[in-house]
Amino acid sequence: MASVVYPAEYLGDIMKPTYYKALWHNCGKCKLHFMSEAPHLKAYLCDECWNKMPHYRTTNVQKVKKGPTHNLPHILRDISSTEIMLYTIGNLICLAIVGYYLWFK
Ligand SMILES: [Zn+2]
Repeated sequence: MASVVYPAEYLGDIMKPTYYKALWHNCGKCKLHFMSEAPHLKAYLCDECWNKMPHYRTTNVQKVKKGPTHNLPHILRDISSTEIMLYTIGNLICLAIVGYYLWFK
């Protein structure tokens, strides 16, 4: 029975153990180690310190007023005639500069 010889790099890939990201952190207040997958949600504090912190909550949540065009893509929003005029003038100036260099230089 023929034995198969694998190159060392290939074996290294197979035999590599599974690594897990360390999920423990130092508490920002008491320097205690604690485990958490999302430590930023509790400001990098252990559960005990987090619960000791005052928790402020707003009672009157203001609703954002949305106009009739809030959902439209940018190109379909209201464009004022001033914007159109400025855009046209800018284009004409650029065109004039390009034309000048093409025909007179
Ligand atoms: Zn703590």
